[in-house]
Amino acid sequence: MITLEKPYDEWESYHDIDKHGKLTLSNIEFTTTNLCNMRCAHCAVGYTLQTKEDEAIPTSELIKHLDTVETLRVMSFTGGEPLLTKRGIRNNLLPLLKYAKSRGIKTQINSNLTLPMEHYEMVAPYLDVMHISHNWCNEKEFVETGFAIMERKPTVQQRAELYRNIFDNARELSKSGMFVSAETMLNRNTVPYIEKIHNEVANEMLCKRHEIHPMYSSDFASNLETISLDEYREVVNNILDFRNENIWVLFGTLPFYACSSDQRDLALLEKINKTPNITVRNDVDGRSRMNLNIFTGDISVSDFSDDGSALGNIKTESLENIYSRWLDTNISNSINCHCPAVKCLGSNIIVKNMYYPDSVFKSGSVR
Ligand code: SF4
Repeated sequence: MITLEKPYDEWESYHDIDKHGKLTLSNIEFTTTNLCNMRCAHCAVGYTLQTKEDEAIPTSELIKHLDTVETLRVMSFTGGEPLLTKRGIRNNLLPLLKYAKSRGIKTQINSNLTLPMEHYEMVAPYLDVMHISHNWCNEKEFVETGFAIMERKPTVQQRAELYRNIFDNARELSKSGMFVSAETMLNRNTVPYIEKIHNEVANEMLCKRHEIHPMYSSDFASNLETISLDEYREVVNNILDFRNENIWVLFGTLPFYACSSDQRDLALLEKINKTPNITVRNDVDGRSRMNLNIFTGDISVSDFSDDGSALGNIKTESLENIYSRWLDTNISNSINCHCPAVKCLGSNIIVKNMYYPDSVFKSGSVR
């Protein structure tokens, strides 16, 4: 019998349905810095970046809150650039990484991977996934758009060196056994280069996984055009044809669902299902995951906090309370459908607004 090899995705929200029978808070993303050495044109949090770090809530306090969430199984660290300063790594990251390891919680850091190797070596023993973004068509584009909104930019040569660091660091970390996962957003800019980018991720960076996501049209990325559903379907089909079979390809927030009446969508989903080493991830934000800002204590759901408003704050309320209140909101209910037959938890609010503004998704449509 031939078994289809599908890697186990620790970040998948559906594991909570399998284990607890319902959406469950199992995943916390920490914003551990507001600093970054870059200012990318497409940065999702570009408007929050600062040049001086605020005082963080002591990690002992944060850990008391985490102790109350028995169902916690994955944690991610984002910024800014979480690995930018050794002080930040020592004070804000390492205690939480060590805590996670002591509880068997899986961890991921989102880094731009441009920094000196010793920054990565500090966290390597405690880390499960090093997550990087690779949306760069070439060095020239990195040099120009990676620092697009920085007032005093490094020289062109310095910026080019940072670009080469990404490749060198990814390769070295991968060779040393680290699970490096590169994410690429599909937009009008990256689609013509997606095969080149995939080959770089697989063959030059030696990453174990290539994540493919839609580009979310946000104010910050408004100059990068989103692609249509037809273009999206075509590029995913192309990726399935040219991809390197040795690398796991993960489609996150894939905007095609088993309840679709379009045969082309169903054919694509079937093709994905039948291909080894390819998975689709239900969106985690607002399902299994909330974001905790370690400076303010604010809790938010990343895709829903465009207006900057928080759902609550850990200084006044428990994580579980905030999560329950979130699940009761109209906005959460508006996207939470569920078809157990295909383990689908529905769309994400940005993808729905972008591609399916008038559609009503109904739980149980697929049997
Ligand atoms: S869970 Fe929602 S999006 Fe997914 S197949 Fe069912 S109705 Fe469609």
